[in-house]
This record gives sequence, C-alpha cells and structure tokens, in this order.
Amino acid sequence: MEGIRADTSRLCAAARFHVWDSDPMGAGESQLFCHRCGAVLTPGQGDFYVVRIEAFADPTPPDLTEDDVAGIDPSAEIDRLIEQMRDMSEQELMDQVYRRMTIHLCGRCYRAWIDNPAA
Ligand SMILES: [Zn+2]
Repeated sequence: MEGIRADTSRLCAAARFHVWDSDPMGAGESQLFCHRCGAVLTPGQGDFYVVRIEAFADPTPPDLTEDDVAGIDPSAEIDRLIEQMRDMSEQELMDQVYRRMTIHLCGRCYRAWIDNPAA
C-alpha cells in the first residue's frame, strides 16, 4: 500500500509539470517579444504571428561526369572532408544542411516582413 501511495503522488507531480510545460505560447512564465522590434506580445490578444522557418540545403545530388570522377582518389577525398570538418561541432555540421526555428512577430512587423520575406 505504501508503495502505491508514493507512486500516485509522483504521478500527480509529473502531470502538473506536464500541464505547465505544454503551455503553447509560453505565456505562464516567460514573456514573448517581437523578434524584430522587441515589442511585448500578449497571448490571447491576436496582436502577433508565430512564424515557423524551415531551411535546408539543396538536396539534389551533384551532376558529375565520368571525367569529374576519374581524377579523384576516394580515400584522399574522404580524408580531405574529414579534415575540413575536424573543428566543427555536431551542431555546426547540422546547421549547414538544416535549420528550423520559430519566431514571433508583432502585427506591424509581420505585415512588413510577409510582403518581402527575402529582404
Ligand atoms: Zn515588431
């Protein structure tokens, strides 16, 4: 019986933590700011946008001819690539091929940004 009671209280603590943790806008503890102008954003007032950005490197394999490949020593090429990556962290290597982020923009900044997102 003692064991079951202990487990139950641990379960409740976990459930409470989960509810706090799943707060979708992070409104409970931390304040939201516009990523561009720094304005304070208030969840529930409809005054900001959530922008998800996903960027990845060109996934098309290089178009190599037989001549391109003929002069390459594969093991020397692998050594060269390993040397190039030696000082990079796993995160840096990942960032080169794939980035994903979520930013918040106030209404004014969103309207300016969405008209010209590549500026
Ligand atoms: Zn703004």
